[in-house]
Amino acid sequence: MELKNSWLSYTAAQKKELEKVCSGYRNFLDEGKTERECVDFAVAAAEKAGYKNLADIIKKGTKLKSGDKVYSSYMGKTIALFNIGSEPIESGLNILGAHIDSPRMDVKQNPLYEDNELVYLDTHYYGGIKKYQWVTVPLAIHGVVVKTDGTTIDVNIGEEEDDPVFCVTDLLIHLAADQMEKKGAKVVEGENLDVLFGSMPIKTKEKEAVKAGILELLKEKYDMEERDFESAELEVVPAGKSREAGLDRSMIIGYGQDDRVCAYTSLLAFLDVKKVKRTGVCLLVDKEEIGSVGATGMQSHVFENALAEVMNAMGAYNELSLRRTLANSKMLSSDVSAAYDPLYASQFDKKNAAFFGKGIVFNKYTGARGKSGSNDANAEYFALVRSIMESNNVAYQTAELGKVDAGGGGTIAYIMSLYGMDVIDSGMAVLSMHAPWEVTSKSDIYEGYKAYKAFIEN
Ligand SMILES: [Zn+2]
Repeated sequence: MELKNSWLSYTAAQKKELEKVCSGYRNFLDEGKTERECVDFAVAAAEKAGYKNLADIIKKGTKLKSGDKVYSSYMGKTIALFNIGSEPIESGLNILGAHIDSPRMDVKQNPLYEDNELVYLDTHYYGGIKKYQWVTVPLAIHGVVVKTDGTTIDVNIGEEEDDPVFCVTDLLIHLAADQMEKKGAKVVEGENLDVLFGSMPIKTKEKEAVKAGILELLKEKYDMEERDFESAELEVVPAGKSREAGLDRSMIIGYGQDDRVCAYTSLLAFLDVKKVKRTGVCLLVDKEEIGSVGATGMQSHVFENALAEVMNAMGAYNELSLRRTLANSKMLSSDVSAAYDPLYASQFDKKNAAFFGKGIVFNKYTGARGKSGSNDANAEYFALVRSIMESNNVAYQTAELGKVDAGGGGTIAYIMSLYGMDVIDSGMAVLSMHAPWEVTSKSDIYEGYKAYKAFIEN
């Protein structure tokens, strides 16, 4: 089966729209390098589009009705947006879901140490990474420090032109004879992913004069003590902005495109649709990269609770109605696909691989070792999704994550399918997935946006 490359089909007007979607996307990547920053972005965009905070609706006892738009953010790391449709809510929701956490290095709770007049921040990596990719590249630190008096200090160092950046050092090649013999997983060890944080001693009575200087700076700039790292969430991410890639500018290179490429296009499409028949939901969740655990991960009941509150404010809540609403729902659970890479052709089944320029990818199933851990979408549902794509001229392809037994991966789809709803994995293809800098195709981003819009409108 040969699918046509989407670039060949665009009119001038479509190319213009494509560039608009992609420049908005690049801005999102630059503004949202952590789940908290992505939720902040989504809240601002939602409020601009007329969405109200569900917490205020509950507090005031406001009634909700068809046409109303609300959002519910949880712990600032997960958000659900609702666009209430004209049909009874029990007929089900059209849900777009994606995750907004990305692989990175998290600063440990007792991170600061000095060794031979160099000061380091000790980290624990988050999500699946090839550790050797994270050394020698400029790094930024994003996150929050929450002090015991309840004040939150926002941290964002390394993104402005004149900000300092950080790095993890690597052994010079001249002395790396032993290191180069090691297996990839051991070339750089997890406990060695420590961020170089300072090297200038101050005049002090203390033994560790560089660390003393760093602590002084932390006090001066952030009003924090060393122990405040204990209640901090500081994420070390690649420093710098996303860029267009290729001489023809047909691609985007940037950090965290897994899964923000799906999160942004879902959000944009969702906010662009004003009125819907079936109630629309856009769900952007945290913790997917470590198994969707915790209160802000998809396994928690946060979304179900928010839906119950929305139904209650509509005067439509009871346990059975909630269950029917969830069971009658349909979802595009979006996460990125591995793009076919000719340099690593042997790891793909070319007939069932995702290609740049061939549109949004549907994975009937994901998982590993015999589909284990996957949501295997129903054929009837996939046929419906295909018909929506085709009647809206959306380019789409199907794929598996690599060849059988090469590896595999999971998404949030199987969790939502527990309600008995129809769910299918979808998303855009990415090259160098989970690397500090990932690559996507602009045409796929545009087709993704079109796909999400068509899904919400139907
Ligand atoms: Zn992902």
